[in-house]
Amino acid sequence: MFARRGLNTFFRQTQRSYATANPKKIQYNSLKPYVLVGTGLCLGGYGLLSYQKSGTAAIDSDCYTPLSIQEIKKVNHDTRIYKLAYKNKNACVEIPLSSSVYVKDDSMQIMRPFTPVSDSDTKGHLELLIKLYPDGSMSQFLKDRTVGDILEVRGPIINWEYQPNSYREIGMVNFID
Ligand SMILES: Cc1cc2nc3c(=O)[nH]c(=O)nc-3n(C[C@H](O)[C@H](O)[C@H](O)COP(=O)(O)OP(=O)(O)OC[C@H]3O[C@@H](n4cnc5c(N)ncnc54)[C@H](O)[C@@H]3O)c2cc1C
Repeated sequence: MFARRGLNTFFRQTQRSYATANPKKIQYNSLKPYVLVGTGLCLGGYGLLSYQKSGTAAIDSDCYTPLSIQEIKKVNHDTRIYKLAYKNKNACVEIPLSSSVYVKDDSMQIMRPFTPVSDSDTKGHLELLIKLYPDGSMSQFLKDRTVGDILEVRGPIINWEYQPNSYREIGMVNFID
């Protein structure tokens, strides 16, 4: 009832501006509730969008995100799985097939791509299977990292997008040294 009365007043006052008689001044007080409700809705919507954005964007393909090393699993003498925790424990990152993420080392000013081995629906973390080379720059940087250290990660980067069923056969090559 309150809302209808306010709207009627508003429309009546707006219509008067087309009449020949001098229009009455619009009573802005009657519009206050609508302005307040509108502002509230806008702010609420903006807040919700910002929350959703921060909740889903665990990593970014345009800029580096600091991720904490949650676990380092030794696979063999020179290969390890680095489990990197997202800030949001419930976040998942869509990792398309054949995409990679970059890890950087600011002290040496180098970055190297790695192919995540965790799935797109893995919640809260990203896993990288990394072979450490004795004379490799990134390898030496990673070799010295321990649980709790931060790795700067950017991605996923899609260099080439695989379309399902687009090839009759797929050949794979594995180098073993
Ligand atoms: C798209 C993409 C995805 C990749 N994904 C992974 C991954 O999931 N896991 C992973 O371990 N690596 C991956 N790599 C390789 C990785 O990016 C680095 O090249 C590797 O870790 C070596 O970096 P480095 O700085 O330690 O060595 P560098 O300092 O660049 O090289 C030092 C020496 O290491 C040796 N070396 C370097 N790279 C290789 C190599 N690929 N094969 C054999 N010898 C090498 C060479 O002898 C070289 O002289 C990927 C590369 C690309 C392009």
